[in-house]
Amino acid sequence: MLADLALMEGKILTMNPSQPCAEAVAIKRDKIIKVGANEEIVQLVGRKTRVIRLDGKTVVPGFIDTHIHVADFGRLLTWVDLRGAKSIREMQTRILEHARAVPAKRWIIGRGWDQNCFAELRLPTRYDLDEASPDNPVVLYHENGKLCVVNSKALEIAGINVDTRNPPDGVIDKQAADEPTGVLRNAATNLIWRVVPAPSEDELADAAARACKKVAEAGVTTVHWMVLYPAELSVIHKLYKAGKLPFRVYVIVPSQLFDDLAVSTLSSELGNAFMKVGGVEISADGYLAARTAALSKPYGDCPSSSGQLLCSIDEMHTLSAKIRGANLQLVIHAVGDRAVDAALTVIESPSEGFVKNDPRIRIEQAAVLNQELIARMANQKVVVSVQPCVVGSEFSVWSATERLGMERARWLFPLKTLLKTGVKVVAGSDCPMEPLSPLGGIQAAVAREFFPEEGVTVDEALRMYTVDAAYASFEETVKGSIEVGKLADIAVLSCDPHDVPPNEIGQISVDLTVVGGRVVYSKR
Ligand SMILES: [Zn+2]
Repeated sequence: MLADLALMEGKILTMNPSQPCAEAVAIKRDKIIKVGANEEIVQLVGRKTRVIRLDGKTVVPGFIDTHIHVADFGRLLTWVDLRGAKSIREMQTRILEHARAVPAKRWIIGRGWDQNCFAELRLPTRYDLDEASPDNPVVLYHENGKLCVVNSKALEIAGINVDTRNPPDGVIDKQAADEPTGVLRNAATNLIWRVVPAPSEDELADAAARACKKVAEAGVTTVHWMVLYPAELSVIHKLYKAGKLPFRVYVIVPSQLFDDLAVSTLSSELGNAFMKVGGVEISADGYLAARTAALSKPYGDCPSSSGQLLCSIDEMHTLSAKIRGANLQLVIHAVGDRAVDAALTVIESPSEGFVKNDPRIRIEQAAVLNQELIARMANQKVVVSVQPCVVGSEFSVWSATERLGMERARWLFPLKTLLKTGVKVVAGSDCPMEPLSPLGGIQAAVAREFFPEEGVTVDEALRMYTVDAAYASFEETVKGSIEVGKLADIAVLSCDPHDVPPNEIGQISVDLTVVGGRVVYSKR
């Protein structure tokens, strides 16, 4: 049997313990047919074989991002990019250019500005934005995501005026006569976001198509697509039917959208190696950044609050029975220790018989832990799905040490301890909240700045994005490593992540992405 595609003269990190390294790979149709030395693979090269010479570059199994909001990521790509703007003038010019192509009344959303880089040495105001776009509502998010500036139209739509009081945990900047300046801080930014209309199906389809390209460029060959909007299921369906998905998709829908009929129709039609409706996510609590994560003791920087559960244990029981009844994977978003405890209480309940059936229940984030919770997770064979870039942000952007106090912060995302205790940890980006880059995620997990003792090795981090990630969707026998019989999902990297200083892993480039034997991205 001759190969359709042969990758030669590379450094193949297979993630297969019985053959960890190789020089070349042969692919026939969508599968790997041989992994070995150059001399072995060359035997399978015929006249019609496409040969790609790697020149010593590193090959890894295609990355699996276990938590990405593809449609929202695409929406973000349609936003005005204000990174690197050197002045308010420049910001206005970028908005003006963008506004030309935007229909009347449509919101203009931007992100990435930083007043510290502005020649004017001040915060932008509503009046600056009014000059660039008086008619379309405009909201521009700061580079740190904690504040935004809006124009007068946006303030009007949100009903923010001289009389509006600050919401809890938020500030509406005001000037003389209590006139809002347009700058909104922390929770006050939600006053705007909640009036931005949900995207139409056409907008979502356009956004998702843009995101698809970027995902392929990142070397990601499977996404666990976390759905946010009802129209997204149909968008995924259409992209799939049109052959426009450059990666495999494992769909996870939020329990609020879990309609037996819609999901089961999709699951039966699309349950194949390319696309599968896999799981339903219950949100047990919110996020540390917004102090909505449910903690067992009050927040260090807000002693009157310890967050709250979004779903009682009884409700979680009912929902999980329904999810499992539909033969779907149970996924629980739980950030605070109280939420993780509640999730485990449901999972441990004897009537569920969870462990016996190998349901691979996932806890997304599982951020604030302690040794008791970790032991219980190991016992129940729970899969923990983390987003390594979030770990860095919790400390550096959201000052987790103040929010939780030193003692609890020590147990925030204790990746190494989880692995040592035998808990399966898998990784994703949570893009667009964090950058998409799996290599950036590997760097964050390895070169941890805060509590570095919880950092993992390069191999452990690679597993989280490949073989173990495949396990999280019951697919470790078909993908996640480079071995004979598995799907030919592969990423070629400019160099080996083992060979660079840990804090430079994120700068390694992805040169080629192959999905099912098809080149979906090539840097050249
Ligand atoms: Zn998310």
